[in-house]
Amino acid sequence: MIETQVLIVGAGPVGLTLALDLGQRGVRCLLIERNLTSIQLPKMERCNARTMEIYRRLGIAEKVRDAGLPRQCPMDVFLATSMAEPAIVHLPYPSVADAKAEIAAHNDGRPLEPYQLISQYTLEPLLRSIVETLPSVTVQFGCELTSFLQDASGVTAEAKTSEGKLETIRASYLVGCDGGSSTVRKQLGVPLRGRGRIRTLRQALFHCPDLYERIPMGQGRHYHIAEGPLFPFIILQDSTRHWTLHAAASSDREMAEIFRQALGMPLAFEMLSVNEWTQHLLCADHYSDGRIFIAGDAAHLVIPTGGLGMNTGVGDAIDLSWKLAAVLAGWGGPQLLASYEKERRPIGLRNVKASGAAMEGRLSWREAYRPNASDKTPEGAATRTEMGRRFDVEQRKVTEILGIEAGYRYIGSPVVWPESGDGPDPENPQYVPTTWPGARLPHVWLKDGSAIHDRLGSGYSLLRLGGSAADPGGLAQAIRSTGAPLDVIEVPGEAPRDIYGCDLLLVRPDLHVVWRGNQAPENAERVAAVATGHASEGESTNTATSW
Ligand SMILES: Cc1cc2nc3c(=O)[nH]c(=O)nc-3n(C[C@H](O)[C@H](O)[C@H](O)COP(=O)(O)OP(=O)(O)OC[C@H]3O[C@@H](n4cnc5c(N)ncnc54)[C@H](O)[C@@H]3O)c2cc1C
Repeated sequence: MIETQVLIVGAGPVGLTLALDLGQRGVRCLLIERNLTSIQLPKMERCNARTMEIYRRLGIAEKVRDAGLPRQCPMDVFLATSMAEPAIVHLPYPSVADAKAEIAAHNDGRPLEPYQLISQYTLEPLLRSIVETLPSVTVQFGCELTSFLQDASGVTAEAKTSEGKLETIRASYLVGCDGGSSTVRKQLGVPLRGRGRIRTLRQALFHCPDLYERIPMGQGRHYHIAEGPLFPFIILQDSTRHWTLHAAASSDREMAEIFRQALGMPLAFEMLSVNEWTQHLLCADHYSDGRIFIAGDAAHLVIPTGGLGMNTGVGDAIDLSWKLAAVLAGWGGPQLLASYEKERRPIGLRNVKASGAAMEGRLSWREAYRPNASDKTPEGAATRTEMGRRFDVEQRKVTEILGIEAGYRYIGSPVVWPESGDGPDPENPQYVPTTWPGARLPHVWLKDGSAIHDRLGSGYSLLRLGGSAADPGGLAQAIRSTGAPLDVIEVPGEAPRDIYGCDLLLVRPDLHVVWRGNQAPENAERVAAVATGHASEGESTNTATSW
């Protein structure tokens, strides 16, 4: 029998990110993957700003960027009747290099990292190669989870290797990061709710080495072709030589012809693969059952419009990871693991909704299509104008949703100290920096040019801001007396105090705010107990703070 602390099922991006964070925290994990290799087909291609902040914390952001789309490539989005025609709409989005320069030039609480285009078939092997260097993590490909049973002290799982060997694995906890058809979720009997099987599309991967340099309307990442009824959608992959095409084609062979027509210019290309994929807007009723958890696509399935699939799953992994580590280290209280579902399921539901809204917008501009869309006539021009007008509004629900990506807040979490009032709008697509308890700590540049995110350790951080003399009272001692790691950090300078709007801040290992105030909390022991999961918000009698 193999023994481990955490059994992670599935080496997609979410299972790999979970293994990476747990491994860096020294937790013993076994990561099993039924396939023999990482994914070969294209799927996701955009890590959003929050995922890149997380990868920076994990020390791999620049490795991801080195492997992804070159930093100077723009991320523009176009609507046109073919790749050879002028744009009907051109939405410019900065390259990583330009976006980083903008972030460096501002200290207004905007996220620390911009997005990164990296194809899933590049990201997964990269993450795997990094995870495999961690001494506490074992990675086993060609090993499929078949069943599991939990008892009071752990989980016993059965797995089958690609050679047909049966393995028994004993773990303290099991996390199913095993994708949309999750064995773990199904065996737990947890239903998915929402809209399943909305439509099935074909996706083809092309090698078209000369296209990137030859697009008259300009270089970008998304090209929507305004030609119905299939509306080909062409997406740049990280090499700039590979492209995916999405279309509701009736056969694999048709995909090559659709691509040729969408190009509108004579260019050599090779179709490397075609696969079908189905759109869903679904979220699981539960994310956990005792010692078993689900994360990523196992827990929520979105339409990729808006890029909220893997990115939401990375958020799940990073919420669960430190809580598992805390409980295994002995200082995490019982509310910590219970809070995983309470924090992440509302975000799953919210992101499913946002992705649905993004998809509806795409349907809206497509409805304005008329067969004359490519005609060089006044009527054709009118069709293009109306499609473009709608596109210009609706496409922004896909590409301008930083508030959804980085502005999520754990409302009503049992391990966040509650503050009276409603707090900022949790569904605002615009990102507005806030330290309202439950929110992710906004990025600020410190006086020495470093980022506060880089200064915070892997435990709790108690920040005193702007040279304030505010006395945190017994809060530090109360946190430490639970056994939890805590750093007390002086943060001088006006900018952090202005952006954070308070003198004292208690931040968790995943950089979400637990408590804030201008003077010591009235009941430091209670705040510490809530923060570390030894008491819940519900048990707390004191819901007002000194705030
Ligand atoms: C066309 C397309 C474009 C997309 N674009 C984006 C994007 O730009 N941004 C974004 O964030 N998301 C995007 N997504 C969604 C993204 O691909 C998924 O959300 C992401 O792959 C989910 O990661 P995961 O690790 O949860 O699951 P998966 O990637 O599905 O990985 C699950 C793994 O578990 C393994 N597994 C399953 N069952 C078992 C078992 N019993 N035992 C062992 N192993 C098992 C599987 O083999 C698989 O490797 C896109 C998806 C599609 C289809």
